[in-house]
Amino acid sequence: MNFEIKPGSFSGQSKFLNYIGGQWVPAKSGKTFESLNPAEPSDVVGVFPASGPEDVNAAVAAAKKAYENWRLYPAPKRGEILFKAGQILIERKEQLSREMTREMGKVLAEARGDVQEVIDMTFYAAGEGRRMFGQTVPSELQNKFAMSVRAPLGVVGLITPWNFPMAIPSWKLMPALICGNTCVLKPASDTPLLSHRLVEILEEAGLPKGVVNVVYGSGREVGEPLMAHPDVSLISFTGSTDIGRRVNEACAPSFKRVSLEMGGKNAIVIMDDANLDLAVDGVLWGAFGTSGQRCTAASRVIVHKSVHAQVRDKLKNRIGELKLGYGLNSDVKVGPVINESAMKKILEYIEIGKGEGADLIAGGARDTQAGAGWFVQPTLFDNVKSTMRIAQEEIFGPVTALIPVGSFEEAIQVANGIQFGLSTAIYTKNVNQAFTALRDLDSGLCYVNAPTIGAEVHLPFGGTKDTGNGHRDAGTTALDVFSEWKSLYVDYSDKLQRAQIDDLS
Ligand code: NAP
Repeated sequence: MNFEIKPGSFSGQSKFLNYIGGQWVPAKSGKTFESLNPAEPSDVVGVFPASGPEDVNAAVAAAKKAYENWRLYPAPKRGEILFKAGQILIERKEQLSREMTREMGKVLAEARGDVQEVIDMTFYAAGEGRRMFGQTVPSELQNKFAMSVRAPLGVVGLITPWNFPMAIPSWKLMPALICGNTCVLKPASDTPLLSHRLVEILEEAGLPKGVVNVVYGSGREVGEPLMAHPDVSLISFTGSTDIGRRVNEACAPSFKRVSLEMGGKNAIVIMDDANLDLAVDGVLWGAFGTSGQRCTAASRVIVHKSVHAQVRDKLKNRIGELKLGYGLNSDVKVGPVINESAMKKILEYIEIGKGEGADLIAGGARDTQAGAGWFVQPTLFDNVKSTMRIAQEEIFGPVTALIPVGSFEEAIQVANGIQFGLSTAIYTKNVNQAFTALRDLDSGLCYVNAPTIGAEVHLPFGGTKDTGNGHRDAGTTALDVFSEWKSLYVDYSDKLQRAQIDDLS
């Protein structure tokens, strides 16, 4: 395989440690695990502690201790630390992006986008340090002052997936910190390196010891004890719907707050009046960007039957032009999938699709020409029925399904006819149709004439139905996740005043 690794791309460090109470420490058991390059699995990216409950306990204790001071640290001053972290992130963007491509597999342009999202979120949250608006309202009584403020929750547990190895940890860490919480982060075992880098940068920016702690290890050994810990006030989770359900159940007995961002089965609708070349560009980016491993990936293309054949043929031609390979090589458009079991699951779904009677139009196999890693050809199924498993279940790979429909109403019905509700897009030039779709599509994100991917950090991010539990990451809604409302009344009348009872007349 031809690796285009520039000198100085990687730090040379190969052993990494947990970060607990401001110290870099191994797992108490001494156990470790390896993070591998999915484009070339013999390339070991790093060795990380395989932590357990005892490490989680130490991290939560450190976070609890640090909380006493951090909650009193003025929010604008917290913001100054984040602004500094944002500056360091800008300086290291290229190096971080290259490390991300090596560890996670997404092509370099997309890795740069992931790091840019971290930068955007860091500055956005930093600015909230001088806003974090509450309400000041008139009291119904004289000489009484009434207002609401945001209060931090305490120690928060953050559990993140591998597909946005730095952006998603930042989407949780930055709002949590600006609100005055202390954090224990458990990143996915497939991509620990970029969380490590983020925490290093926060330390360098001057974050006090114990305010952020990171514990590496599996969901079972680290995630479970974190969810069960009585001193953790909230679990903010992003990952699959199955594990999210488990998180919800585990946190229910203690009434721990839970914020869940879970799976998707997103659709692009292409109407008969759409700009078809634009729509095809959108499908290629939406379905095969990040090798289809975005929660917002377009794994269904609902196409009006009068343009169905044209869309299918254009897609088939364009898919053939997508070059697979190691994402550091500049001509590569699609990288590997994250690991061998993900590849096997995707290939199983391709078999399921064939078995269900869908027509395989492009791809459909592992690509060994692209390298020794976990490469799956961009795959297109045609004549898919909306009830088929490949049109209902999250495949999380470079596979998309063309579903022909006869009308706008049917398109909306098919788009909504799934258990998930994350992101939907419609291509049309008809403004009435576009606005009707925006009203009727049952998903947290909707796009007109743009693909299902492309969210920005200053708007709420999340989904309906089995994608979420009503919370939203990003935007000011992230502050709602990481803070508690407190209503404050100050009576300066010097006498007993009884709300709802005393008559002022
Ligand atoms: P996952 O398997 O659910 O894992 C997510 C995180 O949960 C990882 O850190 C994992 O740790 C941990 N975990 C696993 N089992 C656990 C348990 N029993 N208790 C506590 N934590 C546990 O998901 P993934 O494969 O990493 O990510 C892909 C999924 O995330 C897809 O379904 C995708 O749609 C979803 N996603 C959703 C959004 C969104 O905003 N809606 C964004 C991105 C991704 P280990 O892997 O280390 O064991």
